[in-house]
Amino acid sequence: MGKISVYRFLSAGCNGCDVQVLECLVPRYKLAELNVEVVSNPEEANVLVLTGGVNIKGREELIKVYEKINPPKIVIAVGNCALTKEIFDKGYPMVGPPDQIVPVNFYVPGCPPRPQAIVKAVTQILGAKLEEKEDYWVTPEGFRGKHEFDRDKCIGCGACAQVCSSDAIDIIDEGEKRVVRINYGRCSFCAFCQDECPTQAIRLTREYHLLTNNRGTTYVTNDVNLLECASCGTFFFPQPQIDWALKRIIEEKVPKYLEFKDEILDAMKLCLKCRREIMNVKKAKKTLAELSAKARGS
Ligand code: SF4
Ligand code: SF4
Repeated sequence: MGKISVYRFLSAGCNGCDVQVLECLVPRYKLAELNVEVVSNPEEANVLVLTGGVNIKGREELIKVYEKINPPKIVIAVGNCALTKEIFDKGYPMVGPPDQIVPVNFYVPGCPPRPQAIVKAVTQILGAKLEEKEDYWVTPEGFRGKHEFDRDKCIGCGACAQVCSSDAIDIIDEGEKRVVRINYGRCSFCAFCQDECPTQAIRLTREYHLLTNNRGTTYVTNDVNLLECASCGTFFFPQPQIDWALKRIIEEKVPKYLEFKDEILDAMKLCLKCRREIMNVKKAKKTLAELSAKARGS
């Protein structure tokens, strides 16, 4: 590809990503040396950079702009609103994300992505080489990038999903497993999940070069085993969460309850539905006694 002429299109975002795109044009990133220029007229462009989630007003305009762009019509969606609409997802005027309106070739996740991430993505797309010795590629202390799980520590409790204001974390129960799935293409990198995780199982790393050509790949996942109900066989609760809670609450905080530990453990082997269905106290006691005996191997 010869000269790269970029046209910027913003629709329905906070403008943060657009500011980062402009920041890429400062001389230190040397985009001009790579024959990249920004144009103000779509007819002069062969690359379209999209930011924002696209609302009703922006839809027709985006289609018109895309039609005017010259071949090879490379479209780059920059920032998480352009991937998933992020915090604007449920806004009534939203019709995007952009790839539901025009074809998108590449995605640069982030909220907003660092200019360095955008520059690197553009050069990667062009197949150009970058001088990476400079300081500005290094992330500052406290930078919040892509998530990482400590798989041994995650208990599958779902606290992270509850505090996530971007709806970026899904808790999915599939057969014997609970999957904790983070979509960093929908994340605002606030780190609430990291702060609220009771076991410090989740961490935002400094990784920010997140270019992809498939927005279905912006996930970090972890899974834990679910406990099987001793009565009906339904998988119903994360085993590591039960182990963690018992250790913390019963053994560490409330030693008196140790004398009822076996009974409590037996009761916890039943799902909520089965526990509710055992209305007769005698029957419940008998069931628990049988389960206790079974657990002790007698
Ligand atoms: S990452 Fe932390 S908060 Fe999220 S499910 Fe795992 S243990 Fe719970
Ligand atoms: S950092 Fe965590 S809590 Fe914050 S938006 Fe991203 S996934 Fe949600």
